[in-house]
Amino acid sequence: MFNPDTLSLFKNTETPFYFYDLQLLNQTLIACKKAADKFGFHVHYALKANFNQKILDAVFQQGFGADCVSGNEVKAAIKTGFNPEKVVFAGVGKSDREINEALDLDIFCFNAESVQELEVINILAGKKNKIARIALRINPNVDALTHKYITTGLEENKFGINQWELAACVNAFKECKYLEFMGIHFHIGSQITNLDVFKSLCIKANEIHQWFNERGFQLKILNVGGGLGVDYHHPDENPIVDFDSYFQIFDKFLERKPGQEIHFELGRALVAHCGSLISRVLYVKNGLKKNFLILDAGMTELMRPALYQAYHMIERLNGYQMSEIGSQISDLKSQASNLLSPTSNLQPPITKYDVVGPICESTDCFGKEVELPQTKRGDLIAVRTAGAYGEVMASGYNLRDRVKFLYLQ
Ligand SMILES: *Cc1c(COP(=O)(O)O)cnc(C)c1O
Repeated sequence: MFNPDTLSLFKNTETPFYFYDLQLLNQTLIACKKAADKFGFHVHYALKANFNQKILDAVFQQGFGADCVSGNEVKAAIKTGFNPEKVVFAGVGKSDREINEALDLDIFCFNAESVQELEVINILAGKKNKIARIALRINPNVDALTHKYITTGLEENKFGINQWELAACVNAFKECKYLEFMGIHFHIGSQITNLDVFKSLCIKANEIHQWFNERGFQLKILNVGGGLGVDYHHPDENPIVDFDSYFQIFDKFLERKPGQEIHFELGRALVAHCGSLISRVLYVKNGLKKNFLILDAGMTELMRPALYQAYHMIERLNGYQMSEIGSQISDLKSQASNLLSPTSNLQPPITKYDVVGPICESTDCFGKEVELPQTKRGDLIAVRTAGAYGEVMASGYNLRDRVKFLYLQ
């Protein structure tokens, strides 16, 4: 991801900025598409993970559909070129304006999240004399075994329709003549790394599918959402998610009727690894118990650590300069223990730092006790695997500038 060319580019670029490796992005998209095509699965990209235009363009070029959670995302997808027939729209709180816009754009399907929403969509579609296609987002009460802040498929979560409300939905479909019932939808959480969770989801989805069949409904689509996790700890060893294993689970455990379409909505797994937040060290603060690296990027550029206690690998980018090695040698010489130790060599000493941002919040911290080579003011730092839920969550808190970005084509 980083080579001498990108590093020299970084040296002349004002920090902080997001760096996107579009080559890695394309390799990831191609790997996912190939794995999904094997089973005839449809994949929608969840725009909320990253709607940087270059990223949307690449995703569109590779033939994905779009999964949107706001009216503006629906509009952004269609403006990028996504065929409305490949756009789905979820969200617990779709406003009337957003529903109207999506109806005007003739999107493929609304993923409806409550009985009341069904009634509202029916009224708004009726006024336009249109039929709205609907999948029911059902809360399957399956534990995603991920961080509780990014769990969405338990009964205590606000998302989706609970199973005891399905009978009311069936009645609503009988009464609402501007709705076409297309199928069922699930999305149980994010950063799911235990694939057994998806097996549990399949088993639950089969039961619910069966429930509808018994009541005379044939479902055209089964949408199992997204949530596939990435390896935040080893971005260089595992830059591309194992999409084959993921799709195989659904091929094996999800019961599918002839002609039925299986849809997915992946966000993080497609874009996380291609992005890094690049920042410079402003100050090094050595305390009694702790050393702090104070960066020029903070939670205003990357909120995940503050918001979800998320881990990101942190790397110092500039290689050791000769002059630094020179000073290390004299350091080592002055330390008898190091001279006696057979393992002593010219490796830079490792120091533990709390890597923090400049924002006036104690949660503005990218990592605690991070082991890095001794670092000084002006050094470049990469916060890795920041392509998903990074730039899109940037805020103007503390009246900060909007974060910039740079691409590797
Ligand atoms: C966020 C979201 C996704 C994508 O989740 P990832 O964990 O990024 O794959 C898919 N579907 C819905 C409805 C979402 O809200």
